[in-house]
Amino acid sequence: MTEKKGKIYLVGAGPGDPELITLKGLRAVERADVLVYDYLAPEVLLQYARPGCEKIYVGKKAGRHTMPQEEINRLVVGRAAAGAMVVRLKGGDPFVFGRGGEEALEAAAAGVEFEVVPGVTAGVAVPAYAGIPVSQRGMASAVAFITGHEDPGKEQSDIDWEQLAKFPGTLVFYMGLGRLGSIAQELTSHGLDPAAEVAVIHRGTTERQRAVTGSLEDIGRKVRQAGLKAPAIIVVGKVVGLRERLSWFESRPLFGRTVIVTRAREQASEFSRILDGYGARVIEMPTIRISDSPEPEKVAWAIDRLDRYDWLIFTSVNGVERFFHYLRASGRDVRAIGQQALLCAIGPVTRAALEASGLRVDLVPGSYVAESVVEALKSRGDLKGKRVLLPRAAVARQVIPEALRALGAEVDEVAVYSTGIETPENLDRVVEELTEGRVDVVTFTSSSTVENFVRLVGEPVAAGLGGKTLVASIGPVTAEIAAQHGLRTDIMPEDYTVEGLAAAVRDHFTSGKGL
Ligand code: SAH
Repeated sequence: MTEKKGKIYLVGAGPGDPELITLKGLRAVERADVLVYDYLAPEVLLQYARPGCEKIYVGKKAGRHTMPQEEINRLVVGRAAAGAMVVRLKGGDPFVFGRGGEEALEAAAAGVEFEVVPGVTAGVAVPAYAGIPVSQRGMASAVAFITGHEDPGKEQSDIDWEQLAKFPGTLVFYMGLGRLGSIAQELTSHGLDPAAEVAVIHRGTTERQRAVTGSLEDIGRKVRQAGLKAPAIIVVGKVVGLRERLSWFESRPLFGRTVIVTRAREQASEFSRILDGYGARVIEMPTIRISDSPEPEKVAWAIDRLDRYDWLIFTSVNGVERFFHYLRASGRDVRAIGQQALLCAIGPVTRAALEASGLRVDLVPGSYVAESVVEALKSRGDLKGKRVLLPRAAVARQVIPEALRALGAEVDEVAVYSTGIETPENLDRVVEELTEGRVDVVTFTSSSTVENFVRLVGEPVAAGLGGKTLVASIGPVTAEIAAQHGLRTDIMPEDYTVEGLAAAVRDHFTSGKGL
């Protein structure tokens, strides 16, 4: 066996928005044996590491180094020399004020193989998210990246202020917030117009982004008043003026709003993605755990006689997925469904799940609640003597089976999954954010999400909703259950889908009501 050869990947993680890592960078993170990261690298990226990957935090906030640079170098090179694939994950780009050059030199000196995966640097991306293009035809034909954090012990500045004051383009300062005053002062005393436009952008590309604009003369005061802290990028130049027209990120409808998603983990992502697209900070707090059927024999029995049903009715994506799971497990596939069978899906998402299995759906009621399923089925002809299969959750409302039986149908209800209460890992943090009033909306997408949420956070915390924190329910049934728990629904969509719910939350905050 040949010995595994170690290697170092100096990977740029981007400026904060975790999606701004490159594909190459993400692949390196996924394969890493050891992940060494600092404080500006977005932490959610760590979840892409494989199980068993060793994750080492080496800190690095200006002036407060958790681990001295020499030690980081030794650690990284040491692990790679011992055969590990080491990913050194750095905020922004590793070679732009990131000491990546030093780490690469160290690797080269030790004869350890390394690769550099460039990243999206804060000096370009942060202004971009603030609506400031760093170069612009007719305004700025050059860009300078400058460190605002020189070695404090230095007697003479390495920065040639005279040249910078004359620079024919945009000046971008990294690590400069602590010296904003002296930066502005140096530039003006070397001849730059005190009215020159300046933007200071804190935690750009994240939901905490905040920007202040002004002139060299007044920016110091404005930043102090606004209480902006590091990390921040300082941009000086005409391009700052474009922000007025180009600020896209902060003007998204849910920017600065925090929304809790209580759906099961398996289902949360689609909903979260839509809310995220509207600019919300989304906290996923799964309250429901989906598990196996409590009656597998009955499921097997129904699958055995699948060719005899006239109607198959699916009321959730879980129902579809779990039903096909059992169908496959029985050694069969969709051909086991009878020629005569018609398929009904409660709504468009359930329909899409069926279509993904190659099936055509015959009926989707206009409104996505049990009552309209019955109405829609009735409209498709006499139900007397028809055999209906209803694969769904273990505990479900009786509206559909009862109404269909009353119309003479033979209904087999089978539980293809059961739901239980989940224990979300982030429960403590969610409760803290709720009690501190930092959550704008809690969303409920089913009755069980309400019940489980109240049980998880506790009655008193739940009772606190309705003030700063609004309640959004997907439809009237969920809203009714919420009401039974003393929660008044503030937001409800007209169509009872997650898309509808997300849009209703968005509209609530854009129609002025939320302000
Ligand atoms: N290698 C990094 C820069 C590291 S120096 C890169 O290429 O982006 C750290 C400085 O970067 C901070 O002091 C701040 O000036 C800037 N910075 C990094 N991320 C930032 C963010 N999200 N918002 C504002 N400034 C940021």
